[in-house]
Amino acid sequence: MRQARAVSLTIVLAGVVLLLGARVGGQTATGDPAVLALMQQINQVLATSSLNVAVEQIEFFTIGQGRPSNRILAQEFRWVANDPRRLADGENITYLVDKSDGTTLSGLTNAQTEAAIDRAMNTWQAANPLKKVTLVKRADSGADPDIFDSFFGFGGFGNPFLADIVNAGWLPRAFFEAVGGPGGGRGILAFSVTFIFVDGNGNPTDINGDNRLDSALNEVYYNDTFGAPGDRVNNPWGINVALPGIDVETVALHENGHSLGIGHFGPPPAAVMNPVYAGIRHEPLAIDNAGMSTVWASWPK
Ligand SMILES: [Zn+2]
Repeated sequence: MRQARAVSLTIVLAGVVLLLGARVGGQTATGDPAVLALMQQINQVLATSSLNVAVEQIEFFTIGQGRPSNRILAQEFRWVANDPRRLADGENITYLVDKSDGTTLSGLTNAQTEAAIDRAMNTWQAANPLKKVTLVKRADSGADPDIFDSFFGFGGFGNPFLADIVNAGWLPRAFFEAVGGPGGGRGILAFSVTFIFVDGNGNPTDINGDNRLDSALNEVYYNDTFGAPGDRVNNPWGINVALPGIDVETVALHENGHSLGIGHFGPPPAAVMNPVYAGIRHEPLAIDNAGMSTVWASWPK
């Protein structure tokens, strides 16, 4: 979120209402029309940059009422081993935890939240489907490692290729209201946003011929409303806390499930990747691992 870098790309999205149908930009988009419109607006700005990336998916993890998955394209996306465009660490997948936003208004320290995120990543690493890929943690150098927040005025436009997956920390309620729309600020616990690569003409790429679009970067944002003074005080972020508290490791396991390539499903069955928070869940279930197996079966192709 850091503010250090000048932001020429920051655009004011608040208050913009575009009612789009199911067809956006000639492609079959699915999800909340207002969220899809924001994603398209961001992509119009990104198209003027030299990054050759586009927002493809936003998945909200909520408490209470669920929200639809938001996808611009119907085709699936995958990480590509050795992709030079994202400065890939060979066949490894890298992640980074942004220490600048790691504390919570509910009283957690950066050390506590970072350790919980690390536990979640270690859990995925230990799951059978991910044994063929190594998850490598990159140190937070202090440079701004994320970009999505900048489009809403909540941070600078950072370097998006410091790691494949960035756990971008805890941001204010207003950010989640801006991204998710009415009620988002108090209903969304966290979300994952996936960007794909596009070519110079803005067309999605598939450089390894696996019939999947090429993932470029993934950012995870956590909502600091929960347990903030005077706001959702009954649902504070905590470490290994049962409901009505919100367990950081459980949410991190879910969000980084998206980062590693799987979407929402169920319930039923119960799963880490259910779209609504249901209390502590520190281990993937069979259905989660089945999803991961599909995604990683052909790695490193
Ligand atoms: Zn989710």
